[in-house]
Amino acid sequence: MLIRILGSAAGGGFPQWNCGCPNCVGVRRGTIAAAARTQESVAVSADGDSWFLLNASPEIRQQIESFDKLHPRAQRDTPIQGIVLTNGDLDHCLGLLSLRESQPLALYSTERILRGFSEGNVLYRTLQRFDGQVSWHLLDVGAAGEQALRLQNGEPSGLMLRAFAAPGKPALHLDQTTGGPGDNIGLLIRDTRTGKSLAYVAAVGQSSAAVVSAASSADAVFFDGTFWSSDELIALGASTRRAEDMAHWPISGPDGSLRFLAELERARRIYIHINNTNPMLREDSPERALVTAAGVEVAFDGMELEL
Ligand SMILES: [Zn+2]
Ligand SMILES: [Zn+2]
Repeated sequence: MLIRILGSAAGGGFPQWNCGCPNCVGVRRGTIAAAARTQESVAVSADGDSWFLLNASPEIRQQIESFDKLHPRAQRDTPIQGIVLTNGDLDHCLGLLSLRESQPLALYSTERILRGFSEGNVLYRTLQRFDGQVSWHLLDVGAAGEQALRLQNGEPSGLMLRAFAAPGKPALHLDQTTGGPGDNIGLLIRDTRTGKSLAYVAAVGQSSAAVVSAASSADAVFFDGTFWSSDELIALGASTRRAEDMAHWPISGPDGSLRFLAELERARRIYIHINNTNPMLREDSPERALVTAAGVEVAFDGMELEL
């Protein structure tokens, strides 16, 4: 399985347009050891020719252009066979509306996530201009089995997918009082040829049996790296909400996700969906040193892996 990180930042990107935190100011001015990052999206492929996107960020056009394997091979064409959505937040879905140029799209997600984006959304009609423009492949977080990620011609791609519920919340623009297990999912993607698998958990509020089981079985684990600490935004005066209130498991502390990932020694472990305020973005920070010492990596745009 080939994996390319198209974007590694959380919602807002790095730097974020309206943020004057030390990280954002420093990366704009070039005064800190940190690279700018676009919002989280990852491309996966079994053969290097046909690709699936995990999430569709607002920067999708720029991200597709940044990776030549995603460029068209004919007058009207895309190597992108499908897009998997892990939750309904706009940083994960808004890019769909930028793919409106009459290209058939296959979307893989839960019914809750797909309905949350499409229902009552007048702009979604731009993806409904002809029959079959968008096809939904529904994922069931209660199902034990895998399903094939299929090429646009219906043939199996060589990648199998299993979705599982990850502790989270409905998308911010939806009713927050009616959450359910299909609002936020993790993915286990397996290459049928090599048998290797990727656990993809870009947003998760806390540990759960399903998250532990998927991460423990995988050869690579991409994990929610949004916030270093629970009160990161509060300490900066940027918000009154704790990381957990936004359904993101903080990295640091005795109950942080770094402790959990440090124990998964057989897998390559990579933090992704990193908020611009996170001190580990600075390559020379003590926080980055702690992550590295635990055997965990920090994703950057353009990073590639082969499993
Ligand atoms: Zn997000
Ligand atoms: Zn910032």
